[in-house]
Amino acid sequence: MADSRALYEQVILDHTKNPHNFKALDPCDHKAEGFNPLCGDQFTIYLNMNGEVISEVTFEGSGCAISKASASLMTTVLKGKTVTEARALFEHFHEMVTSAPDTEINEAAVGKLRVLGGVRDFPIRIKCATLAWHTFTAALEGHSAPVSTE
Ligand code: ZN
Repeated sequence: MADSRALYEQVILDHTKNPHNFKALDPCDHKAEGFNPLCGDQFTIYLNMNGEVISEVTFEGSGCAISKASASLMTTVLKGKTVTEARALFEHFHEMVTSAPDTEINEAAVGKLRVLGGVRDFPIRIKCATLAWHTFTAALEGHSAPVSTE
């Protein structure tokens, strides 16, 4: 257990140091800005769609290690997913990070996002971890007003 925790921390650190898909998309089909005033995390999510399929998703901005790692991981898992699959994944992810620390994590449902499971032990970090996802949802739905986690 301690070993897997260390592994997860390493993955998070790698994403924070070398975030994936960390760039603007121009032109893009959708974009949205998100802000977590509790921590100061602020990201813009960019999306390109091919019908119902997410063909490209990138992000820009700044934030704490958890928010940045979560945004980076999100962009890697969403590429090639349909909108329906993406929404389901967010639901499972949200369920994991808001679950009680002693409940079992549905590893099959969350996949690579499992590394962020430790967030549920730190309730103040839940908004950091979900900011990119809320912002992604806003981009999908075409909201032009910035998203705030407050
Ligand atoms: Zn944060």
